[in-house]
Amino acid sequence: MIYTITLNPAIDRLLFLEDTLIKGKNNRLQEITYDLGGKGHHGSYAMSQLEIKNQALGFCGTTNKGKLEKILTEKGINHDLVDVYGKSTRESYVILETGVSGSILITEKGFRVTNYDKESLNEQIERKVNATDIVLIAGSLPLGYELRDLAELLSQLKKIGCFIACDLSGEALKKAVELEVNFIKPNRFEIQELISSKNNLLDNLKELAKKVEYIIVSQGSEGSICSHAGDFYQVTTPKVAAVNDTGAGDCFVGSFLSGLSLGKPLTECLSFASACAASKVQHNDSTTFSVKEARILQKKVTVKKL
Ligand code: ATP
Ligand code: MG
Ligand code: MG
Repeated sequence: MIYTITLNPAIDRLLFLEDTLIKGKNNRLQEITYDLGGKGHHGSYAMSQLEIKNQALGFCGTTNKGKLEKILTEKGINHDLVDVYGKSTRESYVILETGVSGSILITEKGFRVTNYDKESLNEQIERKVNATDIVLIAGSLPLGYELRDLAELLSQLKKIGCFIACDLSGEALKKAVELEVNFIKPNRFEIQELISSKNNLLDNLKELAKKVEYIIVSQGSEGSICSHAGDFYQVTTPKVAAVNDTGAGDCFVGSFLSGLSLGKPLTECLSFASACAASKVQHNDSTTFSVKEARILQKKVTVKKL
């Protein structure tokens, strides 16, 4: 079983404008659609599309719980969320202009979690997670969730003995490395906060590899580098017409862990994850990708040992 934990969930409200955004003018909407904004939820979506048994855990505000659960259910994501009473899950606005690539993102800070909420999550994890499971913690930390709370959660998971994957950034990512989790996937910016600029990337990865079993540094359209068991791999991406790369990393992580959970060889997990993410970037929301297209794109991905 794979569990994903989204500590700071979000509902994305995609606003498709009829035209381009102009100040002082009535900017008419063509359409509004909703999507998941939380990175763990994105990972769960990829796993669900790949028909890998998974459950989305984490916090959820009660005042708009119906809205978040509706999107999760529509996207086929099995979930069991911890209620944050009397508060709402943050809603983000993604403005998409006609004929303009990219988007404008406006986000809320989101709810503050209490000690009660944190204890409820830890109790739930204690009840559910077993040593043979994979747990992915992804995204930012909500207000009230301190680094020491993350350290407590990671220590709890280490005690259980499951495989711990973290798609975190900044101080949270540093904490995950310090506590020697099994997997991290920093992007080209997130890795800078972990390494010394004096050494080259491979030397830095050798150092990090003493603590973390699987490290994948994703580099957008330039692919990724993976470190595992003393070896390094350069993974390419198939050339595609990118529309929106938000969520590419989340799709990569979700599909990579799916492959790993099936016991597939590492090179296969890497090439398939790269193909799924390349399918994702051709869609304008943060989650959509085609499994069928990914299987075709996978043939164009190379994984070379360095
Ligand atoms: P996220 O928005 O999910 O946090 P990220 O910044 O963590 O994304 P990226 O490094 O941008 O992750 O992308 C992850 C992977 O997705 C890349 O390693 C690559 O395999 C694939 N990818 C990203 N952008 C492109 C692109 N333009 N074309 C093809 N593949 C891409
Ligand atoms: Mg990126
Ligand atoms: Mg990312």
